[in-house]
Amino acid sequence: MTDPQHNREVAVQQSGPEKGANGLRPAIFLDRDGTVTDEVGYINHISRARIYPYAPEAVRMLKSTGLPVIVVTNQSGVGRGYFTEEIVLQVHRMVEDALLTAGTSVDAFYYCPHHPSAVVERFRQECRCRKPGTAMAEEAAKRFGIDLSRSYVVGDTYRDMKMGFAIGARTVMLMTGYGRGEYEYRRQEWSRIPDLIAENLMEAAKLVLRELNVSADTGAVAQSIIL
Ligand SMILES: [Mg+2]
Ligand SMILES: [Zn+2]
Repeated sequence: MTDPQHNREVAVQQSGPEKGANGLRPAIFLDRDGTVTDEVGYINHISRARIYPYAPEAVRMLKSTGLPVIVVTNQSGVGRGYFTEEIVLQVHRMVEDALLTAGTSVDAFYYCPHHPSAVVERFRQECRCRKPGTAMAEEAAKRFGIDLSRSYVVGDTYRDMKMGFAIGARTVMLMTGYGRGEYEYRRQEWSRIPDLIAENLMEAAKLVLRELNVSADTGAVAQSIIL
């Protein structure tokens, strides 16, 4: 990283990069649909859930940084009554199984079931967790000791990028899911351009590893990481 404030080499422990001066470390936040799983509209049945074939390897690479990797997903279909929270959890279990098979895992899944016009009353609210709201990231930050301002946010919509801007993270816009369409037809409306553009989660993982000075070929952490 070129930020002079972070220009300090820190030896990597087996448990991952050492924490910064504030005792916190960065994390890598991933959107779910269109980022880890194929964007098919609402995943209202487990049969519609497909993990991108490269996603387990990409997550494994991201985890090799020693940083927490956390999924944050808007699932307003719950509030809208299209499907239940059980379906959301089933999809997360499917993703988890695919990652485990590849010898990796994410640290946590957070989802927002709310929508301002939800038909399910308990989910009808202007919540702070629905992206671009930041409550899911903030909740994870408390739990895992995360420095949000040094974190990454990876997603396929500008809404994801806006959450990233709001927490001061580095943002990676993908061309999978809604990404290419948003990039080609909507970016003139963007008030700010994402920090990185990547074809898919695998390319994003390579870019993030390069920035963190972690070797991509073996997935092994390089001798040092600049935090
Ligand atoms: Mg998405
Ligand atoms: Zn919410």
